[in-house]
Amino acid sequence: MLTISKAHRVYKMSPDNPAAATANSGDTVRFETLDCFGDQITSEDQLCGGLDWSNINPATGPLFINGAEVGDVLKVEILDIELNDHGTMVDAPGEGITGSILTDERTKILPVKDGIVTFNDKLTFPINPMIGVIGTTPAAGGIETGTPDFHGGNMDCKKIGIGTTLYLPVNAPGALLAMGDMHAVMGDGEVEVCGVEIGGVITVKVTVLKDCKLPTPFLTRDSIAAAVYSAPTLDDAAIGATMAMHRFLTDELKLDQHEAGMLLSVAGDLCICQAVDPQKTCRMELPLDIMAKYGYRFA
Ligand code: CA
Ligand code: CA
Repeated sequence: MLTISKAHRVYKMSPDNPAAATANSGDTVRFETLDCFGDQITSEDQLCGGLDWSNINPATGPLFINGAEVGDVLKVEILDIELNDHGTMVDAPGEGITGSILTDERTKILPVKDGIVTFNDKLTFPINPMIGVIGTTPAAGGIETGTPDFHGGNMDCKKIGIGTTLYLPVNAPGALLAMGDMHAVMGDGEVEVCGVEIGGVITVKVTVLKDCKLPTPFLTRDSIAAAVYSAPTLDDAAIGATMAMHRFLTDELKLDQHEAGMLLSVAGDLCICQAVDPQKTCRMELPLDIMAKYGYRFA
Protein backbone atom coordinates (compact mmCIF):
# COMPACT_ATOMS: atom_id res chain seq x y z
CA MET A 1 0.00 0.00 0.00
CA LEU A 2 1.19 3.49 -0.82
CA THR A 3 2.38 5.36 2.29
CA ILE A 4 3.13 9.08 2.45
CA SER A 5 5.65 9.70 5.21
CA LYS A 6 5.37 12.64 7.58
CA ALA A 7 8.49 14.07 5.95
CA HIS A 8 6.10 15.23 3.20
CA ARG A 9 4.38 18.08 4.96
CA VAL A 10 2.77 21.33 3.88
CA TYR A 11 1.64 24.36 5.86
CA LYS A 12 -0.51 25.75 3.10
CA MET A 13 -2.97 23.95 0.82
CA SER A 14 -1.90 25.31 -2.53
CA PRO A 15 -1.94 24.26 -6.18
CA ASP A 16 1.77 25.16 -6.20
CA ASN A 17 2.64 22.32 -3.80
CA PRO A 18 4.45 19.50 -5.61
CA ALA A 19 2.72 16.15 -5.20
CA ALA A 20 4.21 13.94 -2.50
CA ALA A 21 2.71 10.88 -4.20
CA THR A 22 0.27 9.90 -6.94
CA ALA A 23 -2.67 7.49 -6.72
CA ASN A 24 -5.48 6.28 -8.93
CA SER A 25 -9.15 6.60 -8.15
CA GLY A 26 -10.08 3.66 -5.93
CA ASP A 27 -6.64 3.34 -4.34
CA THR A 28 -6.03 3.04 -0.60
CA VAL A 29 -3.29 5.26 0.81
CA ARG A 30 -1.70 5.69 4.24
CA PHE A 31 -0.79 9.15 5.54
CA GLU A 32 1.69 9.36 8.44
CA THR A 33 0.91 12.54 10.35
CA LEU A 34 2.60 14.73 12.94
CA ASP A 35 0.57 16.34 15.69
CA CYS A 36 -0.49 19.97 15.25
CA PHE A 37 2.66 21.13 17.03
CA GLY A 38 4.88 19.32 14.54
CA ASP A 39 5.71 16.82 17.31
CA GLN A 40 7.77 19.52 19.06
CA ILE A 41 6.45 18.89 22.57
CA THR A 42 8.27 16.19 24.53
CA SER A 43 7.86 17.62 28.04
CA GLU A 44 5.20 19.46 30.04
CA ASP A 45 7.86 22.13 30.63
CA GLN A 46 7.51 23.24 26.99
CA LEU A 47 4.86 25.94 26.93
CA CYS A 48 2.83 27.26 24.03
CA GLY A 49 4.72 30.54 23.72
CA GLY A 50 8.06 28.78 23.38
CA LEU A 51 7.07 26.68 20.37
CA ASP A 52 8.32 27.24 16.83
CA TRP A 53 5.14 28.66 15.28
CA SER A 54 6.44 28.12 11.76
CA ASN A 55 5.92 24.40 12.45
CA ILE A 56 2.26 24.50 13.54
CA ASN A 57 -0.48 22.51 11.77
CA PRO A 58 1.61 20.49 9.33
CA ALA A 59 -0.49 18.45 6.88
CA THR A 60 0.93 15.36 5.23
CA GLY A 61 0.78 15.28 1.44
CA PRO A 62 -0.37 16.37 -0.95
CA LEU A 63 -1.64 13.32 -2.80
CA PHE A 64 -2.29 13.77 -6.52
CA ILE A 65 -5.20 11.60 -7.67
CA ASN A 66 -5.11 10.74 -11.36
CA GLY A 67 -8.23 11.76 -13.21
CA ALA A 68 -9.43 14.28 -10.62
CA GLU A 69 -10.49 17.38 -12.52
CA VAL A 70 -11.85 20.74 -11.50
CA GLY A 71 -15.55 20.40 -10.67
CA ASP A 72 -15.32 16.75 -9.58
CA VAL A 73 -15.86 15.63 -6.01
CA LEU A 74 -13.22 13.62 -4.16
CA LYS A 75 -14.69 10.89 -1.98
CA VAL A 76 -12.40 10.11 0.94
CA GLU A 77 -13.32 7.03 2.98
CA ILE A 78 -11.48 6.97 6.29
CA LEU A 79 -10.80 3.29 6.78
CA ASP A 80 -8.51 3.34 9.78
CA ILE A 81 -6.64 5.59 12.19
CA GLU A 82 -3.69 4.45 14.29
CA LEU A 83 -2.72 6.81 17.12
CA ASN A 84 0.61 7.33 18.85
CA ASP A 85 0.93 6.50 22.55
CA HIS A 86 0.41 9.98 23.92
CA GLY A 87 -1.35 13.23 23.14
CA THR A 88 -0.65 16.83 24.08
CA MET A 89 -2.73 19.83 25.15
CA VAL A 90 -1.64 23.42 25.66
CA ASP A 91 -3.36 26.60 26.74
CA ALA A 92 -2.26 30.22 26.85
CA PRO A 93 -3.67 33.66 27.67
CA GLY A 94 -5.85 34.88 24.82
CA GLU A 95 -6.03 31.49 23.06
CA GLY A 96 -9.44 29.98 22.44
CA ILE A 97 -12.49 30.98 24.48
CA THR A 98 -11.26 30.01 27.94
CA GLY A 99 -7.89 31.69 27.40
CA SER A 100 -9.49 35.07 28.02
CA ILE A 101 -9.11 34.67 31.80
CA LEU A 102 -5.71 32.95 31.87
CA THR A 103 -2.57 34.69 33.06
CA ASP A 104 -0.12 31.86 32.44
CA GLU A 105 0.37 28.84 30.18
CA ARG A 106 0.13 25.11 30.78
CA THR A 107 1.09 22.04 28.78
CA LYS A 108 -0.36 18.60 29.52
CA ILE A 109 0.86 15.30 28.09
CA LEU A 110 -1.85 12.62 28.13
CA PRO A 111 -1.08 8.89 27.86
CA VAL A 112 -3.12 7.02 25.23
CA LYS A 113 -3.17 3.26 25.78
CA ASP A 114 -5.56 0.46 24.83
CA GLY A 115 -8.07 2.96 23.46
CA ILE A 116 -8.16 5.07 26.63
CA VAL A 117 -6.92 8.63 27.16
CA THR A 118 -5.87 9.47 30.72
CA PHE A 119 -6.81 13.09 31.42
CA ASN A 120 -5.84 13.22 35.10
CA ASP A 121 -5.94 10.97 38.17
CA LYS A 122 -9.76 11.12 38.23
CA LEU A 123 -10.75 11.04 34.56
CA THR A 124 -10.18 8.82 31.56
CA PHE A 125 -11.92 8.91 28.19
CA PRO A 126 -12.35 6.38 25.40
CA ILE A 127 -10.58 7.58 22.27
CA ASN A 128 -12.64 9.05 19.43
CA PRO A 129 -9.90 9.53 16.82
CA MET A 130 -10.60 12.44 14.49
CA ILE A 131 -8.80 14.37 11.79
CA GLY A 132 -8.65 18.14 12.43
CA VAL A 133 -7.10 19.18 9.11
CA ILE A 134 -8.13 17.47 5.88
CA GLY A 135 -8.67 19.10 2.53
CA THR A 136 -7.97 19.52 -1.11
CA THR A 137 -6.18 22.53 -2.51
CA PRO A 138 -8.05 25.70 -3.38
CA ALA A 139 -7.81 26.75 -7.02
CA ALA A 140 -5.22 29.47 -6.60
CA GLY A 141 -3.21 31.32 -4.03
CA GLY A 142 -3.38 28.75 -1.28
CA ILE A 143 -4.94 28.69 2.19
CA GLU A 144 -2.90 28.04 5.32
CA THR A 145 -3.48 24.65 6.93
CA GLY A 146 -4.74 26.38 10.09
CA THR A 147 -7.73 27.87 8.28
CA PRO A 148 -10.89 25.98 7.28
CA ASP A 149 -12.84 27.02 4.21
CA PHE A 150 -14.72 25.67 1.19
CA HIS A 151 -11.84 23.24 0.45
CA GLY A 152 -11.99 21.63 3.90
CA GLY A 153 -8.82 22.37 5.87
CA ASN A 154 -8.81 22.94 9.63
CA MET A 155 -12.49 22.09 10.16
CA ASP A 156 -11.83 20.37 13.51
CA CYS A 157 -15.01 18.36 13.08
CA LYS A 158 -15.19 15.44 15.49
CA LYS A 159 -17.35 13.50 13.04
CA ILE A 160 -14.35 13.12 10.70
CA GLY A 161 -12.92 9.85 11.99
CA ILE A 162 -12.88 6.10 11.41
CA GLY A 163 -15.82 5.09 9.24
CA THR A 164 -16.50 8.59 7.92
CA THR A 165 -16.89 9.20 4.21
CA LEU A 166 -15.88 12.78 3.42
CA TYR A 167 -16.74 14.55 0.17
CA LEU A 168 -14.37 17.37 -0.84
CA PRO A 169 -14.32 19.63 -3.90
CA VAL A 170 -11.69 19.22 -6.61
CA ASN A 171 -10.46 22.75 -7.30
CA ALA A 172 -7.28 21.92 -9.21
CA PRO A 173 -6.06 18.94 -11.25
CA GLY A 174 -5.24 15.94 -9.05
CA ALA A 175 -7.19 17.39 -6.08
CA LEU A 176 -3.98 17.53 -3.96
CA LEU A 177 -5.33 15.93 -0.78
CA ALA A 178 -3.49 16.60 2.48
CA MET A 179 -4.29 15.88 6.14
CA GLY A 180 -2.98 16.08 9.69
CA ASP A 181 -3.80 17.57 13.12
CA MET A 182 -5.40 14.46 14.58
CA HIS A 183 -7.06 14.43 17.98
CA ALA A 184 -7.45 11.36 20.20
CA VAL A 185 -10.62 12.94 21.53
CA MET A 186 -12.18 16.42 21.38
CA GLY A 187 -15.44 18.06 22.40
CA ASP A 188 -17.57 20.02 19.95
CA GLY A 189 -16.25 23.58 19.93
CA GLU A 190 -12.63 22.85 20.80
CA VAL A 191 -13.13 25.74 23.20
CA GLU A 192 -9.70 25.79 24.79
CA VAL A 193 -8.05 25.78 21.31
CA CYS A 194 -6.93 22.17 21.12
CA GLY A 195 -8.14 18.62 21.45
CA VAL A 196 -5.86 15.83 22.63
CA GLU A 197 -3.35 16.58 19.86
CA ILE A 198 -1.67 13.47 18.51
CA GLY A 199 0.21 12.02 15.56
CA GLY A 200 -0.38 8.68 13.91
CA VAL A 201 -1.31 7.01 10.65
CA ILE A 202 -4.51 7.54 8.64
CA THR A 203 -5.63 5.02 6.02
CA VAL A 204 -8.03 6.34 3.38
CA LYS A 205 -9.56 5.18 0.12
CA VAL A 206 -9.85 7.94 -2.48
CA THR A 207 -12.39 7.89 -5.28
CA VAL A 208 -13.05 10.54 -7.93
CA LEU A 209 -16.76 11.23 -8.46
CA LYS A 210 -17.85 12.79 -11.75
CA ASP A 211 -21.10 14.78 -12.01
CA CYS A 212 -21.58 14.64 -8.24
CA LYS A 213 -24.00 17.27 -6.95
CA LEU A 214 -23.29 17.12 -3.24
CA PRO A 215 -22.47 20.34 -1.41
CA THR A 216 -18.89 20.23 -0.12
CA PRO A 217 -17.47 19.66 2.37
CA PHE A 218 -20.03 16.97 3.19
CA LEU A 219 -19.80 13.78 5.21
CA THR A 220 -21.60 10.63 6.15
CA ARG A 221 -20.91 8.67 9.31
CA ASP A 222 -22.91 6.05 11.15
CA SER A 223 -26.54 7.08 10.81
CA ILE A 224 -26.10 10.72 9.73
CA ALA A 225 -25.00 12.96 6.88
CA ALA A 226 -23.70 16.47 7.55
CA ALA A 227 -22.97 19.61 5.58
CA VAL A 228 -19.89 21.35 6.97
CA TYR A 229 -19.39 25.08 6.52
CA SER A 230 -16.75 27.55 7.66
CA ALA A 231 -17.05 31.33 7.86
CA PRO A 232 -15.57 34.29 9.76
CA THR A 233 -18.23 34.10 12.50
CA LEU A 234 -20.17 31.28 14.15
CA ASP A 235 -23.40 32.95 13.04
CA ASP A 236 -22.34 32.84 9.41
CA ALA A 237 -21.01 29.29 9.73
CA ALA A 238 -24.34 28.17 11.22
CA ILE A 239 -26.29 29.83 8.42
CA GLY A 240 -23.96 28.42 5.77
CA ALA A 241 -24.21 24.84 7.05
CA THR A 242 -27.97 25.05 7.32
CA MET A 243 -28.47 26.52 3.85
CA ALA A 244 -26.05 24.02 2.27
CA MET A 245 -28.17 21.16 3.62
CA HIS A 246 -31.37 22.98 2.64
CA ARG A 247 -30.12 23.35 -0.95
CA PHE A 248 -29.18 19.68 -0.99
CA LEU A 249 -32.71 18.75 0.08
CA THR A 250 -34.34 20.94 -2.56
CA ASP A 251 -31.91 20.24 -5.40
CA GLU A 252 -31.24 16.52 -4.95
CA LEU A 253 -34.13 15.16 -2.88
CA LYS A 254 -36.63 17.49 -4.60
CA LEU A 255 -38.32 18.78 -1.45
CA ASP A 256 -39.90 22.19 -1.86
CA GLN A 257 -38.41 25.06 0.15
CA HIS A 258 -41.04 24.97 2.90
CA GLU A 259 -40.87 21.22 3.37
CA ALA A 260 -37.03 21.29 3.45
CA GLY A 261 -36.96 24.05 6.06
CA MET A 262 -39.56 22.37 8.24
CA LEU A 263 -37.72 19.06 7.98
CA LEU A 264 -34.43 20.63 9.11
CA SER A 265 -36.22 22.38 11.94
CA VAL A 266 -37.69 19.08 13.12
CA ALA A 267 -34.93 16.56 12.48
CA GLY A 268 -31.73 18.47 11.63
CA ASP A 269 -29.09 19.04 14.31
CA LEU A 270 -27.07 22.23 13.90
CA CYS A 271 -23.76 21.69 15.72
CA ILE A 272 -20.60 23.68 16.32
CA CYS A 273 -17.46 21.90 15.10
CA GLN A 274 -15.00 24.49 16.35
CA ALA A 275 -15.23 28.05 17.65
CA VAL A 276 -11.54 28.92 17.88
CA ASP A 277 -9.86 28.82 14.45
CA PRO A 278 -9.30 31.75 12.03
CA GLN A 279 -12.69 30.82 10.55
CA LYS A 280 -15.38 29.07 12.60
CA THR A 281 -17.01 25.79 11.51
CA CYS A 282 -20.52 24.42 11.94
CA ARG A 283 -22.27 21.35 10.60
CA MET A 284 -25.91 20.55 9.88
CA GLU A 285 -26.65 16.88 10.50
CA LEU A 286 -29.60 14.94 9.15
CA PRO A 287 -30.33 11.22 9.59
CA LEU A 288 -29.53 9.05 6.57
CA ASP A 289 -32.76 7.10 6.95
CA ILE A 290 -34.71 10.27 6.18
CA MET A 291 -32.78 10.67 2.93
CA ALA A 292 -33.41 7.01 2.13
CA LYS A 293 -37.18 7.62 2.43
CA TYR A 294 -36.81 10.05 -0.48
CA GLY A 295 -34.91 7.41 -2.42
CA TYR A 296 -31.55 9.13 -2.11
CA ARG A 297 -28.40 7.00 -2.05
CA PHE A 298 -24.89 8.41 -1.63
CA ALA A 299 -22.31 7.70 -4.33
CA1 CA B 1 -7.20 22.11 14.36
CA1 CA C 1 -5.62 20.42 16.74
